[in-house]
Amino acid sequence: MSSLFVRTLREDPADAEVPSHRWLVRAGYIRRAAPGIYTWLPLGLKVLAKVERIVREEMDAIGAQEVRFPALLPREPYEATNRWTEYGPNLFRLQDRKGVDLLLGPTHEEMFTLLVKDLFSSYKDLPLSLYQIQTKYRDEARPRAGLLRGREFVMKDSYSFDVDDAGLQASYDAHRRAYIAIFDRLGLDYVIVKATSGAMGGSASEEFLVLAENGEDTFVRSPGGYAANVEAVTTPAPAPVPFADAPAPRPLPSPGDTTIDLLVVRLNAELPRADRPWTGADTLKNVVFMLIRPDGTREPLVIGLPGDRDVDPKRLDAAVAPAEVAPFEAEDFERFPALVKGYIGPQVLGASSPSRIRYVVDPRVVTGTRWVTGANEVDLHVVDLVAGRDFTPDGVLDVAEVREGDPAPDGSGPLTLARGIEMGHIFQLGRKYAEALGLKVLDANGKLVTVTMGSYGVGVSRAVAAVAENTCDDKGLAWPRALAPFDVHVLATGKDAAALAAAEDLAAELARHGIEVLLDDRKASPGVKFTDAELLGMPTSVVFGRRLADGMVEVRDRASGDRVEVPVAEVAAHLVALVRGS
Ligand code: ATP
Ligand code: MG
Repeated sequence: MSSLFVRTLREDPADAEVPSHRWLVRAGYIRRAAPGIYTWLPLGLKVLAKVERIVREEMDAIGAQEVRFPALLPREPYEATNRWTEYGPNLFRLQDRKGVDLLLGPTHEEMFTLLVKDLFSSYKDLPLSLYQIQTKYRDEARPRAGLLRGREFVMKDSYSFDVDDAGLQASYDAHRRAYIAIFDRLGLDYVIVKATSGAMGGSASEEFLVLAENGEDTFVRSPGGYAANVEAVTTPAPAPVPFADAPAPRPLPSPGDTTIDLLVVRLNAELPRADRPWTGADTLKNVVFMLIRPDGTREPLVIGLPGDRDVDPKRLDAAVAPAEVAPFEAEDFERFPALVKGYIGPQVLGASSPSRIRYVVDPRVVTGTRWVTGANEVDLHVVDLVAGRDFTPDGVLDVAEVREGDPAPDGSGPLTLARGIEMGHIFQLGRKYAEALGLKVLDANGKLVTVTMGSYGVGVSRAVAAVAENTCDDKGLAWPRALAPFDVHVLATGKDAAALAAAEDLAAELARHGIEVLLDDRKASPGVKFTDAELLGMPTSVVFGRRLADGMVEVRDRASGDRVEVPVAEVAAHLVALVRGS
């Protein structure tokens, strides 16, 4: 400790939003270089290396082979797949001295596809899985929480290449098994959920989410075992309702009713129902956004949904990717006079209407359902507007918020919600990239076939923070044995030289057994040393203190706080057994 390049801090960093970030900075594992960009200090780098090693071992175990691409990449391959544009503002683009476009790789599907195309040409060369552990760059809109969402971060990405769908399924299953092994070894508390494939395209896909209250992802679970990221939840659509007997739509003057709540109050006062009171769910709320396509073109999008629900911004983002969503501003309303703020109704919307404004609805808005909604005039609503009779949406967009207790898509009962951190993502890309870049091989009949691919990622630097988040407490970090920068923290707290000498002896002996030891040999008070030991978070510490005179030392377990006294003569053997897990 007296020579280790570390300074522990007593104050939280100003930008720390989550415990892992606070402790990793305060314990001297990382330092911020710029927003979303971090420097690894010796302790942090040791943890990172241990995560990398676990990932590498499990990838090697399924026969994947390691390569390493540059992070600085040419534009052309990303142009061929359209991702140079589609990646939008998240892509770091730059130019060399000759004005040639380059990018910093956010993910490497294109490069792997081209590499395999370069070198392989026959079905006999496949299946093949390649991976790298490498630095990625994404200009995230909201870098946050330290390593959890960086603009520069370490990812393990792998790619599988197969001739047919069965092969892809086998490669996918192998990766799934490897990921289970990795996250088990990291000691993470995780769930595997159905996912959307986002900007990647492709079909089957799952995410590994670490349970964490302040995680950015929300996921649902059903009693029957359905589990999905909220972004991927599909709302069961009710059956269409007969509407032959439905009355004609009627106007409802509604001065000042700019909210659903006010409208519901008016309905119950002026048009009370015989069967039950009106609720927000009887109203059709029409929310307008501005969609910005990767090429910069803008288009309004109106979403109709039951008035008791809001649009979930993350579900919307995922559903419209690679387009982005922006608020609909006052000047946008000026440009589209068909849209009357606060009173938007579907009667004037739709691609085939004169306004040509795209109108999509929640899956619950099925044909025959009757709604109270805006009449496209200030202070006016309309009652008994029937879907499929009085308006025809351009399609369904399932982006309403998902609520605890909503019926699960598998029909097994109510959904429960929880939050998590996305640690890994596996998905079947299919032939999209192989087609765009011309990766074909000769099959057994001598015919050229397009290769089918999978793409699989683990957030390696994010894992350091996720483990910290899962294990830290109000005193600091508390690493599991598999990841701790040192196995044992030895503290010499006695005033005399004897304590230090005995501690040094133990450190030397443990080192001979291959155990990594951090020795606190500083001339500091016992209080400072104890506080730092708890902050730094080695799983086991040994205190050479007052009881040394009686031949005893204290062994402390960081996670449980348990303390046992062990005779000095036996402590080395005790620790070796502890570290080796026997
Ligand atoms: P997210 O939804 O969190 O942005 P993503 O869907 O963009 O993640 P992928 O492109 O599938 O993620 O990347 C694979 C893995 O890389 C993710 O599962 C995650 O663990 C990690 N990762 C992605 N973005 C970041 C980031 N900005 N900082 C740290 N790790 C990241
Ligand atoms: Mg992302």
